Amino acid sequence: MTKTAIFPGSFDPFTKGHENIVMRGTQLFDKVIVAIGNNSTKKRHFPIEMMEEKIRETFKNHPTVAVMNFKGLTSNFAKDMNANFLLRGLRNTTDFEYENTIAQVNAHLNEKLETVFLITTPALAYISSSIVRELHQFGGDVKPFLPYDL
Ligand code: ADP
Repeated sequence: MTKTAIFPGSFDPFTKGHENIVMRGTQLFDKVIVAIGNNSTKKRHFPIEMMEEKIRETFKNHPTVAVMNFKGLTSNFAKDMNANFLLRGLRNTTDFEYENTIAQVNAHLNEKLETVFLITTPALAYISSSIVRELHQFGGDVKPFLPYDL
């Protein structure tokens, strides 16, 4: 059976922290789908189409990585993609509290879906999309945090 994992997130923007999780995921799974949640109630800073293109560019030499956007429940999207694994990253205890709840709910919604957590690489643990957004908004240099050029 092909082991497919989806790596869902807002990716607003996709950072070097996310890239690290995807690359490590490719060692574990036959296919990793980076799934950008298209949640219309959340106003994005970086347009979804642009982010999809940038993530695709980032993994252009990695044929087992796919990039898609989706609407609705992650557990339903996983079913549609025949993905039995949900990949997430953990940086700290705050992430753990949040991720724990989501993982329980997803397990309830789709019992075939196994959530797999990768502990962040320490050198990238301080990178967060929200900090990058804030920096970018106020003209700071965000290049060191992103695996592509804006
Ligand atoms: P969401 O809006 O669903 O929380 P994010 O785009 O913020 O999505 O993050 C997606 C996933 O990547 C989450 O599991 C998050 O914990 C993880 N992540 C975010 N930043 C890092 C990082 N620097 N290192 C490792 N994992 C990270």
